[in-house]
Amino acid sequence: MLALSANGVLPKVDYAIFADTGWEPRTVYAHLDRLEREVAAPAGIPILRVSAGNIRNDALNPERRFASMPLYIRNPDGKEGMTRRQCTGEYKIKPIKKKVRELLEYPYPQRIPKDVFVEQWVGISTDEFHRAKDSDVKYMRNRHPLIDLDWSRADCVRYLTSLGLADTPKSSCLGCPFHGNAQWRHIRDTSAVEWRDVVEFDAAIRKGNARANAEGNMLLGEAYLHRSRIPLDQAPIDHVTAAEQAALQDELADEQDAELGVLNGCSPWACRGEVEAAQGDFGLAA
Ligand code: SF4
Repeated sequence: MLALSANGVLPKVDYAIFADTGWEPRTVYAHLDRLEREVAAPAGIPILRVSAGNIRNDALNPERRFASMPLYIRNPDGKEGMTRRQCTGEYKIKPIKKKVRELLEYPYPQRIPKDVFVEQWVGISTDEFHRAKDSDVKYMRNRHPLIDLDWSRADCVRYLTSLGLADTPKSSCLGCPFHGNAQWRHIRDTSAVEWRDVVEFDAAIRKGNARANAEGNMLLGEAYLHRSRIPLDQAPIDHVTAAEQAALQDELADEQDAELGVLNGCSPWACRGEVEAAQGDFGLAA
């Protein structure tokens, strides 16, 4: 959408906002720098980088309040579960709202008049139109320009390729439990440093996050990044089942998640799954 706006296909936006969890792959930060240099700056579009902290460090720091990631849990009785996802709201939505309030010149806790709002573009394509949602605050009105253009994911890839941006990486936390085997393999096979980073993190959260432990709220079971609930460096990430092959052909959405991760992933205002309940407004409502 940034490129479409910069190139005049869509109207020019006032700002683009990147919510930084502090733990994106290096390729994402490099790509963002490139976009800023080659696309946004020449068009006069500022990219605002906002952050509520570093999700990796916060999970391991007993001094910091940590908004939980969706970790895979095995309970002492063998039953499996997941921790509640709060991270998207805390590390992405909350800092974006704070920035929008600043731009509107109504910082929290000021009340924002009804007729003061931003139009916020969310990059949902036609193949995921079910994820297009309204904002939960009146001072942000969501629009979905890719759907208005009737663009699918393939159309977006074609356009990016035509601009020399075919290598646009997928944005998500390096150790996001929503990764599928393909994403874990990609980290392992392309960056020894990042693979060590996620393997170490996986081992470090086995008993939950540091703050909860320091406060005596120990996790009774064990937490894992991989859906198999096996330590990441031993998890069966090379295993591609027949169902996963089928998923690659986009036939079985759930099985596709097993191989490719939750394709819809983590995107403010476009998350799937239980995030709505965890989203809230974090004290930033009008
Ligand atoms: S990418 Fe994953 S870990 Fe990071 S904020 Fe989103 S859901 Fe949480």
